[in-house]
Amino acid sequence: MSGIDGLPPLREVIARHELRARKALGQNFLLDLNLTARIARTAGDLSGMDVLEVGPGPGGLTRGLLAEGARHVLAIEKDARCLPALAEIAEAYPGRLSVIEGDALRIDPLAHLTPPIAVCANLPYNVGTELLVRWLTPEDWPPFWTSLTLMFQREVAERIVAQPGSKAYGRLAILAQWRTEARIVLTLPPEAFTPPPKVSSAVVHLRALPEPRFPAPAAVLERVVAMAFNQRRKMLRAALRGLHPEIEDLLTSVGIAPTERAEQVPLEAFCALACAVEAARRG
Ligand code: SAM
Repeated sequence: MSGIDGLPPLREVIARHELRARKALGQNFLLDLNLTARIARTAGDLSGMDVLEVGPGPGGLTRGLLAEGARHVLAIEKDARCLPALAEIAEAYPGRLSVIEGDALRIDPLAHLTPPIAVCANLPYNVGTELLVRWLTPEDWPPFWTSLTLMFQREVAERIVAQPGSKAYGRLAILAQWRTEARIVLTLPPEAFTPPPKVSSAVVHLRALPEPRFPAPAAVLERVVAMAFNQRRKMLRAALRGLHPEIEDLLTSVGIAPTERAEQVPLEAFCALACAVEAARRG
């Protein structure tokens, strides 16, 4: 029996269900339930909230979320081998855990969730970044979630919270900081996982702001930022040439020197530029 619930320790669960970690699914499991409860706490007060968990695996973080009082956890897991272990957790927490087998990139979980909704996940990093960008870029704001608490490679976490002038500053920083308050709440060494990955990890907590920090048309901002950082060493007048025939004038009109590089430009100026591009297109 483990300390946070009456269920068996995760090592025993993994051995009994023969859940050998699969590299192709990015499986690095958290087996320390005190640690998973701690991660769940970084998500904030979960009582009265539904939690969307992506990639529960053998259920370490799931158990943390339930023990910390989540009203209901909806877990989406691609690896069918994990389902019997997750069913045991569902039995121990009647009516509070639902599991969907499948690829989180293809499943729309909204029909199964009731607001307020928090998202919490320890995902393979490539899937995590793709989902993060999707969650940050819906057309309408506020989004379906009030917070995202996500484990990333430490280097990716640093890109999310990066400030202008740093190497890490780029598309992820702009998209995250435009509409959320993002901070790193925990860093973990490779040994926290079984098997250990090659690099350190970090948990990022992103709280959805009621409104974006600065007005901007979302699709245009995304395009401007993607182009600007795609060629981050180039001056903006060159990197953004394809965006509008009068890009130099537009840059100047919002106070950005056309010779500036993307890395130096603050979020507010990118938002102003997106508005100027949109206005110029409308003529
Ligand atoms: N949450 C567990 C933990 O912390 O121990 C497992 C974390 S492990 C890093 C990632 C989990 O995501 C694995 O269980 C893997 O099978 C699952 N997974 C990988 N790709 C997925 C996808 N596209 N959709 C849903 N689950 C996925």
